[in-house]
Amino acid sequence: MNKRRNEHRKQLRQALAGKGQRFTRQRARVYEVLANTDQHPTAEEVYRRVKFALPAVSLATVYKSLDALVQCGLAQKLTYGDGSARYDANVLEHPHMRDLLTGKVLDVPTEISPSLAITLPEHIIVSIEQRTGFKVKGLRIELLGHLGPIAQSAQ
Ligand SMILES: [Zn+2]
Repeated sequence: MNKRRNEHRKQLRQALAGKGQRFTRQRARVYEVLANTDQHPTAEEVYRRVKFALPAVSLATVYKSLDALVQCGLAQKLTYGDGSARYDANVLEHPHMRDLLTGKVLDVPTEISPSLAITLPEHIIVSIEQRTGFKVKGLRIELLGHLGPIAQSAQ
């Protein structure tokens, strides 16, 4: 077992324990798959990768494992209006690019993303909160478009 895998497992054990959840081989494998990709996989894609190592794993177990990872703060679930969801082991707020045809999600390159750090002026937030009662807690940036040849070759 390599050092990186050990670190992931240690981190997972602590995070699960912090939420009163059990460490399982399935959860460990799901977390490894997620932590080792920047492709924002769907639950089905995670399932296919986990199945290589754990052939008896079920899709339901993968869904439950992903939920556990989200609950203990080791993953974020990116949801879309069509009911689809993708998962990201990078839990820091960061901008994404989503392909409208395939649904694939990529991170905006980190050397570019700081300049995308858009914030709303305070008076707009106050207006929104006063008018709607909605408490603004964050802002998610997502660029919608189509993957070009450069992005596709990076896959
Ligand atoms: Zn991401």
